[in-house]
Amino acid sequence: MSGIKVDKNKCIGCTLCVKACPFGAMSMVDKKAFVDLDKCQLCNSCVETCKVVHAIEIIRETTRTPDMEKYKGIWVFAEQRKGVVQPVVFELLGKARELADKLKVDVACVLMGSNIKDKAEDLIHRGADKVYVVDNPKLEHFLDEPYARIMANLIRKNRPEAILCPATVVGRSVISRVAVQLRVGLTADCTGLDIDLENGYLMQTRPAFGGNIMATILAKYHRPQLATVRHKVFKEAAVDLKRKGVVEVVNYDNSFFVSRTKILKVVDEVTSTVNITEANVIVSGGRAMGGAENFKMLEELANVLNGAVGASRAAIDEGWMPYSHQVGQTGKTVCPTVYIACGISGQIQHLVGMQSSNIIIAINRDPSAPIFTVANYGIIGDVFEVVPLLTKRFKEVL
Ligand SMILES: Cc1cc2nc3c(=O)[nH]c(=O)nc-3n(C[C@H](O)[C@H](O)[C@H](O)COP(=O)(O)OP(=O)(O)OC[C@H]3O[C@@H](n4cnc5c(N)ncnc54)[C@H](O)[C@@H]3O)c2cc1C
Repeated sequence: MSGIKVDKNKCIGCTLCVKACPFGAMSMVDKKAFVDLDKCQLCNSCVETCKVVHAIEIIRETTRTPDMEKYKGIWVFAEQRKGVVQPVVFELLGKARELADKLKVDVACVLMGSNIKDKAEDLIHRGADKVYVVDNPKLEHFLDEPYARIMANLIRKNRPEAILCPATVVGRSVISRVAVQLRVGLTADCTGLDIDLENGYLMQTRPAFGGNIMATILAKYHRPQLATVRHKVFKEAAVDLKRKGVVEVVNYDNSFFVSRTKILKVVDEVTSTVNITEANVIVSGGRAMGGAENFKMLEELANVLNGAVGASRAAIDEGWMPYSHQVGQTGKTVCPTVYIACGISGQIQHLVGMQSSNIIIAINRDPSAPIFTVANYGIIGDVFEVVPLLTKRFKEVL
């Protein structure tokens, strides 16, 4: 176990550690440093300030998962709602297949629910070699504890090296509990996944430090490696009806279905706002639009193309569009057939939310704008001239 230790014989009561602790975990008791373990995050700030007398020490757990090399295969948590496998699962399957082929291992899915056995074939057609099915009326509605307990049990028995999980409300809830039960790390909201071919590590890339850098995280000492990925980050795996695989139905006794929470009622959310994540064409506006009224011009183009309007955070922060239209790291991740970026510079926080779109068209008057590095088609010009021309021409053609 990791922890922190204060050597009272060495502590001189200087209080530097109290001032240095960003979490308010350090205080003085009887003129000696005292750590509140509930607040301490093992960030090392106190150790840094205690360099002269070395009274504080952080002990890092260095144990490895035993028999790490025996963990093989990539798994996907096949989330279903009301018996429908969520589209993000097919996106994860596409990526899982690619990673597994690099490692020359199998892809397996875990499918849990009630009356869902027949969905296993769909997962095989999308690239799974094996599907573990846990079909029980007690799993009809999602409950964190049984789902996580069963998932952790399957992992302990079968030892996959990596598990990809949708970064949905359900996925995040299950996999974080699994991580705690297995005492392994978890990389949330990955925007890129690859294999380090030298030693087989899963390279988990995600924005870090407020989105200012993209960090690639490796789990060198523990298995399995757990990653969550948002909807629309990867492309869906293609359907191959000829693919064959194994379906293993796993049964659990009642002790696995115990839960401290109980579902009283399930109420469907009713929303009237456009969900840009489902749109095939998105026309997005940035700071260049200069005001809410100018988004009408983008709406016209979107209407002609039967699409929706998106926006950069700069435009949202100005109040020109509601937050539900924001594309990017702190907004929505989209993957339309066509994404038209109008007066958007293309900062990394915007790109991570739209760069997997099939066709990207960028309109910007600055030829060196970073958006052009991801664009399939670039139009260097003024949005106020180009967009009306595009609308006019598309109207004629369509
Ligand atoms: C933690 C964090 C999270 C973030 N999350 C997001 C996010 O989810 N989504 C997001 O979008 N951003 C996000 N950002 C902000 C991001 O860094 C950028 O600031 C933002 O994307 C810039 O928006 P923009 O491209 O519209 O504006 P700008 O960067 O100001 O770019 C405007 C562009 O318009 C061009 N232009 C100006 N006038 C015209 C014209 N008349 N015709 C054609 N082109 C013109 C300019 O050349 C310029 O390239 C985040 C930042 C941080 C730190």
